[in-house]
Amino acid sequence: MKEARYYKQITKAGKELLKCEICPNYCVIAEDKVGICLGRKNIKGKLYAINYGEVVSIAMDPIEKKPLYHYFPGAPIFSVATYGCNLQCPFCQNWEISQEKAESKFYKPDELVELALKYPTIGIAYTFTEPLIWFEYLLEVMKIARQEGLKNVLVTNGMINPEPLNELLPLIDALNIDLKSISEKFYKDFIKGDLKSVKHTIETTKKTCHVELTNLVIPTKNDSKQDIQGLVDYCASLGRDTVLHFTRYFPYYKVDIPLTSEETLKMALEIAKEKLDYVYFGNIGGYDNSTYCPNCHNMIVNRGYFNTIVTGLKDNNICNKCGNKIYGVYDKE
Ligand code: SF4
Repeated sequence: MKEARYYKQITKAGKELLKCEICPNYCVIAEDKVGICLGRKNIKGKLYAINYGEVVSIAMDPIEKKPLYHYFPGAPIFSVATYGCNLQCPFCQNWEISQEKAESKFYKPDELVELALKYPTIGIAYTFTEPLIWFEYLLEVMKIARQEGLKNVLVTNGMINPEPLNELLPLIDALNIDLKSISEKFYKDFIKGDLKSVKHTIETTKKTCHVELTNLVIPTKNDSKQDIQGLVDYCASLGRDTVLHFTRYFPYYKVDIPLTSEETLKMALEIAKEKLDYVYFGNIGGYDNSTYCPNCHNMIVNRGYFNTIVTGLKDNNICNKCGNKIYGVYDKE
C-alpha cells in the first residue's frame, strides 16, 4: 500500500471527502471506502493505492496474445496483473479479477523485475485487468524494467486523465489499447466509461510509442455497418498504417448475447481493409492472420496459431521485396 497520487480533498454537504483524479471517473471517496476500480481507498483522510504491489496473475505469453502483431513478432513476454478495473463491462472475460478484489501476492517493484528477468522475455506486459489503475506501482516497476533493458507493454482500456498519462508516457514502449466502440453512448451507458479520454490516450501514445488497437465486436451493441465504419474512419484518421484487431465476442459474466457471427467479422474486415493496411481477427480460427506488405503483398510475417516467423523484412522494418516501410518494431536489439 502506498499513498496515491493525483487526488485532492473536497468538502461536500459538510463532509470531508477525497476526489481521485487518475481517470475520468473522478471517484469521490468517503472514509473507509474504495473507488470504482477497487484499487484506491480513503484511510483516515488520505487516499492510498491499496493495489500497490498486489499481483493476482503472472504468466509467460507470446506477444501475439496481447495482441501485438507488429512488435517483436514471436517474442515471449512476462505478463502480470493486479485486481480491479475502472470500467464495468458486463461482458468482461476476466471479471473474477477485474470486478472483484481477487487474492493477491505482494512483490516490491525490484522483486517483480527480478522475477521477470529469470524468464526469456523481451519485457513486461501489464495486462489481464486494467494496468492504468496500478499507476503508482507502474511508475516504479517500469523505471526499473527500463534500466534492466526490458520493454514496458500496456494492454489497456486507455481511460486515464492527461496529466498522469504524461507522467507515465516516457516509460511506455508499446500498447494495445481497446477501442471498444466509437459511440460515446456505448461507453457511457453500457460500460460506464469515457470515450473522449480513450481517444486522447490513443492519439497521445501513438506519437511516441508503438500502438495497436483492438475492437471486440459485440452483436447488437457495436456491430452495425455504421458502427464499424465510424470506428474504421477514426482509426484511418490516425494513419493508414494503424493496426486494428477485430476480436470475436463470447458470452461471459452478465451478458448472454450469442457470440459474434463469422459474417459480421468478415463484414468488419471488408470495411476496414478499404482504409487500413493492417487488419486482423482474434478469438477465431481458420483465417490467415499473417502480415503482408500493403504495397507489393510480400509476406512479411508468417503467423500460424501462435507460431510466428518473420519472413519478408530487412533493416528492422523494410519490405525485402519492394523497400516499403512496414509499421512496427521487429529487430531484437
Ligand atoms: S483510478 Fe479508480 S478511484 Fe481513481 S477515479 Fe479512476 S476508478 Fe476512481
